[in-house]
Amino acid sequence: MQNFEFKSLKQCEVKNKNIMLRVDINVPIVNGKIEDETRIRAVIPTIKYLAQKGAKVILIAHFGRPEGKFDDSMSLRQLLPRMKELLAPIAINFAEDCIGEKVASAIASAQFGEVVMLENLRFYKQETKGDEEFSRQLATFAEIYVNDAFSCSHRSHSSITGIPNFLPAFAGFLMEQELTNLQKLLGNAKGKMMAVVGGAKVSTKIDLLHNLSKKASKIFVGGGMANSFLFALKYNIGKSLCEKDLATNVLEIMSQAKKNGCEIILPVDLVVAKKFEQNAANRVASLDSVEENDIILDIGPATGNLIARTLEECQILVWNGPLGAFEIKPFNRGTEDFARKVAKLTQDKKILSVAGGGDVVSAINSCNLADQFTYISTAGGAFLEWLEGKELPGISALSISNPSAKS
Ligand code: AMP
Repeated sequence: MQNFEFKSLKQCEVKNKNIMLRVDINVPIVNGKIEDETRIRAVIPTIKYLAQKGAKVILIAHFGRPEGKFDDSMSLRQLLPRMKELLAPIAINFAEDCIGEKVASAIASAQFGEVVMLENLRFYKQETKGDEEFSRQLATFAEIYVNDAFSCSHRSHSSITGIPNFLPAFAGFLMEQELTNLQKLLGNAKGKMMAVVGGAKVSTKIDLLHNLSKKASKIFVGGGMANSFLFALKYNIGKSLCEKDLATNVLEIMSQAKKNGCEIILPVDLVVAKKFEQNAANRVASLDSVEENDIILDIGPATGNLIARTLEECQILVWNGPLGAFEIKPFNRGTEDFARKVAKLTQDKKILSVAGGGDVVSAINSCNLADQFTYISTAGGAFLEWLEGKELPGISALSISNPSAKS
C-alpha cells in the first residue's frame, strides 16, 4: 500500500488566490435526477473551506464518458442547481467550457469567496490522454492546485497528474480522509480477507483480481464479470453480458489464485430473465440450466447464502462492484441482501468491512446502510489499486518527495 507524505490544505495560504480544485462528482443521473449524491456531498467541506477562507474556487471535474466531444447529456451544468443548494450562501457559477476565453471571463467575473465550476474536462480527449499542453492551459487559471479526487487518482489524466507540474499541489480534505482511513483500517489489518468483486467487466479488473489473490483468502466474483468466468468454464450463459475474448485471462486468474492459496468463488445459481428491463419475468437457474435466450442479471439465493456463510469465516471484507444489474428491480436483490449481511456482521463486530465504488455505494445507500459499514470509500478503481499496493500516479504527483512537484 502506498504511503506518502503530502502537503495538507491547512498548510496553504489561500486567501485572495485562485485555487483549482479537482473533484469527482461523477454521480449517477437517471431521467435528469441525481440518484445518489454521495460524491457531491463528500467534496462540499473542501469547497466551503476554500471559499470561506477567501479563495476563488475553480472546480474541475469529469462526467461520464463523452469520448472527447461536447455532449449536452454529459454537461456538468446539470449538477449546478444541487451544488447551489449544498453550497449556499456561497455563490457558484458555471463556465461553458474548461479552457479558453469563456473560462477566463467567467473566472474574472467571480469574486474571491465564490466558486466557478468548469465544463466537463472529458469534452476534450486530451484530458484522458494526459496531454501536457491541456494541463498547462488549465493551470493558467489558478495559482494553486488541490486534488480532492482520490477516486480518479489512479489515472494519469491531465487534470490529475499534469497540473501539479505547473502549480504547487495540495491534497484536499476528502483525499486526506480517504488515505488516512484506508491506511488505518487496511494497512495493518489482521485476519482472513474476503474480496467481493462485481460489476460489468473483467477487462477493467484483471490486474485487480491477480493482485487481490495475493492478499485475500477468498474472492467472490459476481455481477456481469462472473458470466465471463462461467463462459471460460464452458457453461452456457445465453445472451448475458460477457467478454468472451477474455477466457484465457480468466483461466490464468484462476490458476494464479490457486497458486497463491486464494479460493475463487463463483455463483452457484443465477437469476435470469429474457429481457433486460425493470420487473422482467425471471427465474432462478442452476449453472447448467441457462437457456440460449436467457440473460443472467443477478446471483441466485443459494449463491447469496454461500457468500454470507463464507463471510462469516473471514474477518475483513473488501467489496467493489455490484453483484447484479442492481439498478433494475428485482435484480438489486443479490447486492442488497449481501449489503445487509455485511452491515449485520460489522455491527456485531465480527468483521471489518470496507466497500468502495460508485455502484456499490449507491446500493448501500439505497438500503440506508452506509453508517453500518466500517468504511465506505468514494473510490472504486483507485481504492482497489491502492489496496493492491500500486502507486497511484495522482497521489505521487502530490507527494512532497515528487521531484517535479512545484512548491
Ligand atoms: P462496473 O462499472 O464494472 O463496476 O459495473 C457496474 C455495472 O455492472 C452496473 O451498472 C450493473 O448494472 C452492471 N452489472 C452487474 N451485473 C450485471 C449483469 N449480470 N448483467 C448486466 N450488467 C450487470
